[in-house]
Amino acid sequence: MASIFSRIVSGEIPCYKIAEDENYLAFLDINPLAKGHTLVIPKKETDYIFDIGDDELAGMMVFAKKVAHGIKEVVPCKRIGVTVIGLEVAHAHIHLIPINTIYDMDFSRPKIKLSPEDFTTISNAIANKIG
Ligand code: 5GP
Repeated sequence: MASIFSRIVSGEIPCYKIAEDENYLAFLDINPLAKGHTLVIPKKETDYIFDIGDDELAGMMVFAKKVAHGIKEVVPCKRIGVTVIGLEVAHAHIHLIPINTIYDMDFSRPKIKLSPEDFTTISNAIANKIG
């Protein structure tokens, strides 16, 4: 069965899209730690990130770099934190999270609540920076 992220890639499930190209897609995490918390995925479904081929994995990080610069332009923060967990969704993904302290990367913290309008505003603003 296709992963939930493959169903987002196919358009079966909606997302707040940030950027995409032929091989990768970036969209807002639906349960974010911070405004601008973004997921970067390969369109081709692979469960575990370190099972991805070298070129595809390198390309994913270069794509994430472009997305991270866009997030940083829109969300005031010191850095864009990068992490991979993958315990919930079995489709490789990189979390990009605006951070000011190490605690901002703590996934055990309560998530923030955003309205659909907030998600739309943030995703459009970041998408416009990336172009
Ligand atoms: P992980 O697999 O890295 O532990 O966590 C998966 C992440 O994907 C979580 O942060 C969760 O909020 C996010 N997520 C799960 N399902 C969806 C979904 O359907 N849409 C979006 N945008 N994010 C999701």
